[in-house]
Amino acid sequence: MSAGSQPTDALGLRSVSIAYDRHRTVVDALNLDIRAGEFVAIVGPNGCGKSTLLRAIARLMRPASGTIMLDGRDLRDRTPRELARELGMLPQSNVAPEGVRVVDLIARGRYPHRGAFAAWTPDDETAVRRAMESTGVVDLAARDIDTLSGGQRQRVWLAMALAQDTGVLLLDEPTTYLDIAHQMDAMELFRRVNREQGRTIIAVLHDLNHAARYADRLIALRDGHVVIDGPPTEVLTADAVERVFDLPCRVIEDPETHTPLVIARARG
Ligand code: ADP
Ligand code: MG
Repeated sequence: MSAGSQPTDALGLRSVSIAYDRHRTVVDALNLDIRAGEFVAIVGPNGCGKSTLLRAIARLMRPASGTIMLDGRDLRDRTPRELARELGMLPQSNVAPEGVRVVDLIARGRYPHRGAFAAWTPDDETAVRRAMESTGVVDLAARDIDTLSGGQRQRVWLAMALAQDTGVLLLDEPTTYLDIAHQMDAMELFRRVNREQGRTIIAVLHDLNHAARYADRLIALRDGHVVIDGPPTEVLTADAVERVFDLPCRVIEDPETHTPLVIARARG
C-alpha cells in the first residue's frame, strides 16, 4: 500500500484529464474515489466522456495528466497480465472474431491467471462454467460467436469478463442489445457478484431506473465533469435529470423497489 491512498479505495483518480488530441479535452481534471465493494453507476448524455473514462481506468488510454490509483498503487505500475488479474472490462462494443466457439472465447478470460505454458486447471474450469451458467449461455457453448444474435453475443462477452474473476469490473453499457428480461437478469447478476463476491462494479448505464434500482452510488457526468454523485435515492431528482440531460421529467417512487423512477414529461 503506497502512501496517500486509503486502504479500502479500489480506485482513486487524482486530477485526471483525458484528451484524444491536444485541442479537445474530454475529461478535465477529474477527482474520484471509489471504495472496494461499491456498485457505481455512471450516467450522462451521449458523448460526455463515460467510455473515455472507463478506457483510461482500464489503461486502454493514457491520461494527458493526473494519476489513476488502483488498490492504492499507480495503475501504470503493473504488467498487462497483472492488471488483467485485478481489473476486467466489458467494452461498449466488441468485434466478434470469426470461427471461434463461445466456450473458447469465454475461456480466453482465464488467460491472465495462467502462466505461459500452464495447463488448464480445475479453477479455470469452474470459473468458465460459473460464468456460463450465470449468464445463461451454456446452451450456446459450441456455437460460433459470429452466428449469435446481438443479445446472445453480449451475454457471451459478459461471461468472458466474469470468468476473468477480477476484483474490479468495468461495464460499458452492459445491457445494450438485451431484451427486458435479460436486462433484469444481467442487473441482478451484477448485484449478486457485487454483494456475494465483493466485486467492485463500475457500470455505464443509460437506464436511470436500472441505475437507481441496483447501484449504491450514482455518478452523472456532463462535459467530462462530475455533476451529481451520491446514493440514487438522494441524488436522482427531477432537477438533477434536467441539469444532466436537459430533459424535463418527474421522479416518482418505484412501487416495486421504492427507489426513484424517472418519467419524462410530455413535450408539447
Ligand atoms: P460517451 O461514452 O459518454 O458517450 P465517449 O467517451 O465515447 O462518450 O466520447 C467522449 C467524446 O470523445 C465525444 O465527443 C467523442 O466524439 C470523442 N471521442 C470518442 N472516441 C474518440 C476517438 N477515438 N477519437 C477522437 N475522439 C473521440
Ligand atoms: Mg460510451
